[in-house]
Amino acid sequence: MVCGTRPELIKLAPLLRHFGQDAALVYTGQHYDRSMYSQILDDLPEPGRFHEFAVGGVGRGAQLSQAVRVVDEVLRAFGAGAVLVQGDTTSALAGALAANANGVPLVHVEAGLRSHDRAMPEEHNRVMIDHIADLCCVPTELNRRNLLAEGVAAERIALTGNTVVEALDAALPDSDEQQAVLDRHGLAVDGYAVATIHRPENVDDRSNLETVLRELARLPLPVVLPLHPRTAKRIAEFGLGHVLAGLTVVEPQAYPAFLALARGAAVVVSDSGGIQEEVSVLKRPVVVVRRSTERPEIEGTFGTLVTPDRLHAEVLHWLHDIPGHRTRLARIPSPYGDNSTSKLIAMAVERLVAHAPALAAP
Ligand code: UDP
Repeated sequence: MVCGTRPELIKLAPLLRHFGQDAALVYTGQHYDRSMYSQILDDLPEPGRFHEFAVGGVGRGAQLSQAVRVVDEVLRAFGAGAVLVQGDTTSALAGALAANANGVPLVHVEAGLRSHDRAMPEEHNRVMIDHIADLCCVPTELNRRNLLAEGVAAERIALTGNTVVEALDAALPDSDEQQAVLDRHGLAVDGYAVATIHRPENVDDRSNLETVLRELARLPLPVVLPLHPRTAKRIAEFGLGHVLAGLTVVEPQAYPAFLALARGAAVVVSDSGGIQEEVSVLKRPVVVVRRSTERPEIEGTFGTLVTPDRLHAEVLHWLHDIPGHRTRLARIPSPYGDNSTSKLIAMAVERLVAHAPALAAP
């Protein structure tokens, strides 16, 4: 398995648990700020081998070429029956290209997502990975249809659900620990919002970033903001530190602590992909601050897509009748499947490998 960011580690954990000592993990270091991933690494099931690199902190092209090179070296040295990549990052694309160059069967976990937004590098990464993958594991029927519409052969697609459901189930603290997390921040269930903002469209543009922060700060309840390193950097560069005064700014949270915060929140505000999925398991509403989404499955039920200037109004909508929304959302099943995803992916991988000779180590 090849990955390089926090969300990939989170979502690959159920597969690592499944494959155990048969799995090797290559971490490229695309996320190089340890606050983002060290806790997750600590909680990961131990793979048979772990290779850690540091390709982060450079431009996207250099990162891609360095990551391809390091994954290529690992594949040449150790061989692999298959390479699994998850999602849409530069690291996932690098793993895919290195597998392809070495003739190793490639599996794309979380395949078939499309935002149809060509300004997003992630959209290009997804399309490229899907089209060279030997096996595309799609979370939903919509994802399967996206691939069929692009001419991907049905035999290369397996409908599996998303590993996020198992990842969340394994990491969600029990109710006492959830309460302890809220107590640490002086929060009461349903009495606050939690927000995560890190996408370039929101944080690399001064005006958008200021609007998002101001809209959050004028909400009529405390807003907990685990500050992504990229966002912290931009806030400092743009001189927007003073806007943070109205928010409860905290470090990036360990995954279980973040889930506890999301579960207790009246509403979640986010531009993250994974959080859009997680709210459908936690049964909480999310206001998605983005111009497009590759996860339309939750639109109109758990989430609504808004531009930065609509953030405040949309949150107010969810704050009206919180118990009513809770009851309604609790009845809606997650579109991302159940706890069988890693087993379904493993079965599909085993079928693939049985039909493709493993690359022999030199
Ligand atoms: N997350 C976390 N700690 C935090 C904020 C988010 O563990 O302080 C988790 C969140 O639950 C989700 C993932 O990180 O599983 C989302 O990562 P990110 O926002 O970096 O990426 P994206 O989902 O947009 O790819």
